Amino acid sequence: MPHSIVTDVCEGISDCVGACPVGCIKPGQGKNKKGTDFYWIDFATCIDCGICIQVCPIEGAVLAEERKDLQKLKVDS
Ligand code: SF4
Ligand code: SF4
Repeated sequence: MPHSIVTDVCEGISDCVGACPVGCIKPGQGKNKKGTDFYWIDFATCIDCGICIQVCPIEGAVLAEERKDLQKLKVDS
């Protein structure tokens, strides 16, 4: 199952972006509820390797499941 980034937990630190072996972690548009940048995972490309969870310093920002309800691609300000 693809991984998801919880939009409102992500702090936009982007450690995950360079670590992903298939380059499927993309910048979101706008700012999340914390006022930080955020990223999202392309479910169709993710190979479920789990590296993003290992490198992310923010507890709960990455989930090992497909959660369209928690992961947004853009946030309107
Ligand atoms: S998911 Fe984690 S490592 Fe990736 S941008 Fe968000 S906070 Fe940073
Ligand atoms: S699980 Fe692996 S392939 Fe999927 S987003 Fe995370 S690092 Fe990339």
